[in-house]
This record gives sequence, C-alpha cells and structure tokens, in this order.
Amino acid sequence: MFKKYKKLHETTVARQLFSNYVLLFLIVIIIILLAIIANSLYTMNVIDKKNLNQTKFYQYVKNESFAEALKNLEMPEDAYMELLDTQFRVINSHSGPHKIGYQYEKSYMINILFNNTLYDYTYYLKNSKKILLIHVPQNNYPSRVIMGFSFTILTFAVLLILSLLLFAKFTAKNIISPINELVHGVKMIGNGNYDYEIHFKSKNELELLRLAINHMTEQIKKEIALKEASENKRKQLILDITHDIKTPLTNIQGYCETLSDLSNIDDATRNRYLEIIRKNSDKANTLVVDLFELSQFDNLDYKMPIAPIELSEFMRQIFINFIPSFEQKNMEYDVDIPDSNICIMGNEQKLERAFNNLISNSIKYSGDNTIFSISLHETDTSAVIIIKDNGIGIPKNMTDMIFEPFIRIDPSRNKHTGGTGLGLSITKKIVEKHNGDIVLSSQLNKGCSFKISLPRCDKCC
Ligand code: ADP
Repeated sequence: MFKKYKKLHETTVARQLFSNYVLLFLIVIIIILLAIIANSLYTMNVIDKKNLNQTKFYQYVKNESFAEALKNLEMPEDAYMELLDTQFRVINSHSGPHKIGYQYEKSYMINILFNNTLYDYTYYLKNSKKILLIHVPQNNYPSRVIMGFSFTILTFAVLLILSLLLFAKFTAKNIISPINELVHGVKMIGNGNYDYEIHFKSKNELELLRLAINHMTEQIKKEIALKEASENKRKQLILDITHDIKTPLTNIQGYCETLSDLSNIDDATRNRYLEIIRKNSDKANTLVVDLFELSQFDNLDYKMPIAPIELSEFMRQIFINFIPSFEQKNMEYDVDIPDSNICIMGNEQKLERAFNNLISNSIKYSGDNTIFSISLHETDTSAVIIIKDNGIGIPKNMTDMIFEPFIRIDPSRNKHTGGTGLGLSITKKIVEKHNGDIVLSSQLNKGCSFKISLPRCDKCC
C-alpha cells in the first residue's frame, strides 16, 4: 500500500496548482490579445482602405453625392470631402471649407498623401486621375478613443469572467470535488458508518489521503470485529467456568444432603459417598487454581520472578518424574537431551507446570503401547523443546484454537481424563511470558508434536 502511496506522490497538489497557474496565465494573455484585436477592429480607421469599394465609392463621388459617399463610409456628419485635380486644386467639395479652384500647398499635400495624417485621408482615384481628400474633424477623435477604450475594457472583462468561470470549474473538478468527497466520507465514518468507502479519482496527495482514510476505516472495522470477538469469548469463558464449576458443586451438595438425610447408612456406602465428595471438591479446587493461574497472566501488574535455568538438567528431571506413568501405560519413550548446558532465564515453577501439562496430556491422550519422545536442542537464538506422541492427535484445523480456554476435542468434555480444559491455555501463557512461542503440528489419530522455543541466555549459567 505504501509503495502505491509513493507512486501516487509523484503528482503533487503543488505541481497541479503550478500547471493551473500556467494555464490561467495563458488564458489571461489570450484574453488580452483578443481584447486588443477587438479594440483595433472597433477603432480601426473608419475608412478601411483595403475594403473600400472604390468603384461604388467613386460612383458616389462622380455623381457628386459626397453625402452618400461619407454615409457609405460611416463618417461623422461634420466630416468633409474634397475632390482635387493633380495640381491639388479643389474641383468639387462636400461641406468643405475651400472654394472650387482653391489650390493646396504642395508640401502640405505631399505630407497628407504619403503619411495620411490623423485627421486627413487621401485617395488617388486612378480612373479619373483625381485625388479625394477626406477630412474627419478633430473633436470626434477623443470620444472615439474613449469609446474604443471602453469597448476594450468591456470585452476584456466579459472574456475574463467567462474564462475564470470555466477555469474555476476545471480547478474545482480536480481539487475541490475530491475535498468535498473527503469531507462527506469523514462525516459518514464519524457517524459510525464504517462500511463507507470514499471514491474519487485523483493523482495527487488527495488520493493518498483517500487511501489513508479508507485504510483507517478498514482498521477500525477490524478492531471492532476483534473487540466483539473478544467480548464473545469472555462471555463464553464465563459460561464455561460456570458450567464446569457447577457440576462438582452440585455433586458435592447432592451427596452431602443424601448423607445427612440417611440415618441408617452402612460404612461402605458412606465411604463411597465421601470419596465422591472428595473427588468433586478436588475437581472444583483444581479448576479454581487453574483459573487463578490463567488470570494471573492477564494481569498487567503481575511480575513473574525469573532466574537462570540450565534447561538440559531441568528437562531431564521433569521427564524422570513421568517414567512410572509411561511404564504403567506400556508407552515407549525416546529422550534426546544433550549433555551440554543450555541456559535460559525463566521461572522454574511455571515452566515445570507448562512441560508437565504437555507430557501428562501425551500420556492422557495416547493409548497403550504408543511412543512418546522429548528432545532439546539449541539454535542461534533459542532453546527448542519438542514434545511428541503418536496418540489420538488433534485435527489440523484446531491446532490454533486448542490453546483457547475450555476448548477440547471431545465434546463430552473429557469426562474420563478429568482435565479442566485450561492446561494448554496456561502452557501457552507461560511460554509467552518467557518471550517464547509454542506451535502445535498435529493430525487426528496420528499424534501431536508441540514445539516450544525459548530465548537463550548464554551468559546466565
Ligand atoms: P485438558 O484439561 O482437557 O487436558 P488441555 O488444555 O490440556 O485441557 O487440552 C485441551 C484439549 O486438547 C484436551 O481436552 C484434548 O482434547 C486436546 N489435547 C491436548 N493434548 C493432547 C494430546 N497430546 N493428544 C491429543 N489431544 C490433546
């Protein structure tokens, strides 16, 4: 997932914002250019030389319809026109200040002819070899410039607003929409809707945030499921404890009442009843002791005293105690414990309890003439003990859950073996308290193999 994050991180919001700003900059430049073009189109000289329809225009002039000609050119009303011959003499005029026959200064005309000053425009009419002089009064220009300027500003403003709207929409799609989705998603999750998954497509940090929030929701969901499972487990544990403690107590109560109700009871029957009461109180007592031991390990304040232990000798002593039981059941045994010292730090009493549980289980759950083996060896970091039998075994699918309290293979709760169903749970807790681990490999009817690894401590002993 984090590899994915890294890949996504290549496109950043900063990079995206940068490209947005570049785009915005280009848009503004284009708008300015468009406004300039619009302005020049608007303020372009009212007499467009290129587009001037000379034939038509000359037709007006020829007919001396100067007013029509000026109108055709959309000239202001106080503009005037004069038709000059090649000597710059006025031969016809519309609203002009000069009389027919007036001759313009040569130098003045050359200036107008070649430069077309701001207010005077000249056209040489080829066909008639005459010069047309058009004068646009000065006072029209300021308003024309102001109008042109206003038009430019207006064009610029309209184009800018339109493109900014489009730009905002484009930006929103990439940044604001994902943020809205994130806010909505976080609200949903905040309201306890942990199945809600945030969806959007983005290539920047917002995508990282989306993945992180979805991941967080998944984790919360898992935590809740774990909490529920542990709560169910706790309830089941209480039920199991109640059930297992109720049976011996009910028996004790029943036989006590019988004993006190019966006045004429023979010794043999009384002793039998007393024996039943003793067995049941032993059972109840063992259960309470086991439960106490188990709960000890769940208590965070519990500090297990530890000291150096030489495991080879320790394991040999534990095994020796079981030899009578193996012989009683005609079980073969194979012991592989080295002569060398293997040291660990641990609590002898607790470890003895753990190994006793495993060995006594092997005896309990293996028939006559089966084989038991125990071995000890060391690896670079651990001391490894393997306790193995070829008894009734545990189904493969139960090798993890068998370490839970009160889990037994036999649903009738092993009445014959008389265990509490807490032995393996206690063993596991003890091993874990030593920073070790216990793994079971087993198959039904083929036997069990418990592998316990404990951290070595070479300098301890
Ligand atoms: P119990 O007091 O019932 O023996 P444990 O926690 O020690 O409780 O064991 C739990 C269950 O695991 C047992 O009831 C038994 O069904 C199964 N079990 C444990 N050890 C062995 C074994 N060596 N072979 C077969 N089954 C075993």
